[in-house]
Amino acid sequence: MDASHVGSDLQHVLLTEEQIRERLDELAGEIADAYAGKDVLLVGVLKGAIMVMADLMRALPFSAPVDWMAVSSYGSGTKSSGVVRILKDLDTDITGKHVLIVEDIVDSGLTLSWIRANLESRSPASVEICALLRKPEAAKVDIDVKWVGFDIPNEFVVGYGLDYDEAYRGLRDVGTLASHVYS
Ligand code: 5GP
Ligand code: MG
Ligand code: MG
Repeated sequence: MDASHVGSDLQHVLLTEEQIRERLDELAGEIADAYAGKDVLLVGVLKGAIMVMADLMRALPFSAPVDWMAVSSYGSGTKSSGVVRILKDLDTDITGKHVLIVEDIVDSGLTLSWIRANLESRSPASVEICALLRKPEAAKVDIDVKWVGFDIPNEFVVGYGLDYDEAYRGLRDVGTLASHVYS
């Protein structure tokens, strides 16, 4: 079956697959320079970061180990609950390691600042963040995201790993949902 039918639920494509891939290639170059001569552990935040992780790790010129964390912050709605809980912790002991958190999107920033603080408490050598998307207008906390793919408007987006009630993660582009989806 052709997946393009779900594309009709999009109101507006913000970023195409091609734009995302090009930007991740650029970021991978910067990340490779920053970690030259060091070992880095890539930590993806489930589930939204699956696509970013898949493409970023393949764009890196070295083979880095990958681990995953799952936290709850959003339910089926579109607003941050502000409550963060670990649903799945890392398999890896990160003591003394360089950790790069790979995320889909920084919205309020609450989730990522919580994750960063949590990982920093485990005595890693360093913790940095790479996020594909950021909504500067939605920021509630000041968070240092070293690598950002794109700053986007303060709208709810789906695709490329990002869901609405678990749907649309498989869309190749990132876009906003048409209003008929919400009603
Ligand atoms: P934050 O804590 O920064 O507000 O966002 C936490 C998480 O909510 C993000 O990692 C992401 O998984 C989800 N999220 C935030 N904004 C959006 C959005 O526009 N679309 C979707 N699908 N998820 C979002
Ligand atoms: Mg996320
Ligand atoms: Mg979600």
